[in-house]
Amino acid sequence: MCFEGVPIQNQGMSDLTKPSSHNALIDPFGRTISYLRLSVTDRCDLRCAYCMPERMQFLPKRDVLSFEELERMVALFVRRGVKKLRLTGGEPLVRKDIGALIERLGAFVADRSLSELTLTTNGVRLADFAEALAAAGVKRVNVSLDSLDPATFHRITRREKIQSVIKGLDAAQAAGLRVKINTVALKHDNAEEIPSIIEWAHDRDMDVSLIEVMPMGDVDGDRIDQYLPLTFVRDALERQWTLERDDYRTGGPSRYYRVVQTGGRVGFISPLTNNFCDGCNRVRMTCTGKLYMCLGQNDQTDFRALLRAGASDADLDAALVEAITRKPYGHDFEIRRRNAAPAVDRAMSVTGG
Ligand code: SAM
Ligand code: SF4
Repeated sequence: MCFEGVPIQNQGMSDLTKPSSHNALIDPFGRTISYLRLSVTDRCDLRCAYCMPERMQFLPKRDVLSFEELERMVALFVRRGVKKLRLTGGEPLVRKDIGALIERLGAFVADRSLSELTLTTNGVRLADFAEALAAAGVKRVNVSLDSLDPATFHRITRREKIQSVIKGLDAAQAAGLRVKINTVALKHDNAEEIPSIIEWAHDRDMDVSLIEVMPMGDVDGDRIDQYLPLTFVRDALERQWTLERDDYRTGGPSRYYRVVQTGGRVGFISPLTNNFCDGCNRVRMTCTGKLYMCLGQNDQTDFRALLRAGASDADLDAALVEAITRKPYGHDFEIRRRNAAPAVDRAMSVTGG
């Protein structure tokens, strides 16, 4: 199929005071961009071995967008028809005064300019924020958890925090939030444990998404040692259970199956064995204001530079429209040779997973 020459319907300035289909951001492949993942910090209270090195160098505070800058960016995307916003990081809940930002962003949900405000978190501080998230209109959260075994959790995350995560899950569910568990499939650390994580989650009425390790950023270890293709995991699960294709979609890249024996859903996010780019409706902004049109490519637009150079709303809008014309069809991830450079040079904690 040829995608060249598809008209860009979002060129030029229109009435930016309200979202409408004329304002929509449509990429060169006809995909409407309706989803923004916004990283609010690069910092984290864990050090997951596949995500960052133990001695991670974090950014100076001045490099990170202020709450005012973040809010201005969200308003810009909302005016262009973005309906879903996911806060991520780093760990979003370690950002100072994050409760205040979440409350302010909740106003976009209250006036229906956003249909969904969500969060991806490691869960360590979730107990402190669950009520505030629910009050701000957050309905669902994704909590990353790669092992239920305290020793394995410690080995993967390099921190002894599993009890805090479990407390966070309890608090989130008590506050009425739907919780989905994100589990990165790791050959040596949790391959054997994945079925029991799924059983445990389904027992607590939580879906699970399994994620393949993506070659992002430098880590201390070697990714070839960590990489476990999800095709292997699915084959193993199918030997144990009946998986039925489920049409449930969250707007994300997960392909879901219903596990007949447990009644719960399991999703597979497999960028390497199964390219998920076709219906990609999302873009990602780093905590430093770089807009990446694709998780797996290095092309970006630097909105912080524009914000701090005094750009008007119209200037920012023009830059956004132009950036979307550069959204590529898809990524080219592959796990390369041992010790080869990562496919993209920034860690997931920088772009926001
Ligand atoms: N700190 C939060 C958390 O862990 O949920 C949010 C940010 S984290 C970067 C978002 C998701 O990306 C997590 O589910 C994490 O497991 C996943 N992740 C991080 N690095 C990854 C990598 N190299 N490959 C695949 N998934 C990764
Ligand atoms: Fe922190 Fe999330 Fe990266 Fe783990 S995956 S180190 S919790 S940012």
